[in-house]
Amino acid sequence: MSEETIFDKIVAGEIPARTVHETDTTLAFLDANPLAPGHTLVIPKEGYERVRDLPASLSADLFAAVHELTPRIEAAVDADAITIGINDGPAAGQEIPHVHVHIVPRFEGDGGGP
Ligand code: 5GP
Repeated sequence: MSEETIFDKIVAGEIPARTVHETDTTLAFLDANPLAPGHTLVIPKEGYERVRDLPASLSADLFAAVHELTPRIEAAVDADAITIGINDGPAAGQEIPHVHVHIVPRFEGDGGGP
């Protein structure tokens, strides 16, 4: 388990977020600073810092949520594709030490990813 982060506060309902999907073990909500319309973060409710720290069953739950969400998000914003990304460690750009998967809708000719 990692130190408490802003994502733990979102899970606890202590700060608001636009939730788009929830299971017993995962939560998905809109990114506060979206790279594109519909940019969503999917997190395990339990706060593990790095992907390597996740129990296998929780990794499976997290990817199952991503798998379910990507077509819904793509359709919701009429995107052409999706970039799915994890910044795993500070040198990779991870700012919040609580594993999170970025789901970023992509559009023909948008010229860049996360
Ligand atoms: P990272 O750089 O760690 O991979 O991504 C962190 C993401 O969390 C960023 O895209 C940032 O916009 C998002 N973020 C940071 N604070 C908040 C917040 O309080 N609420 C929401 N919904 N997203 C946040």
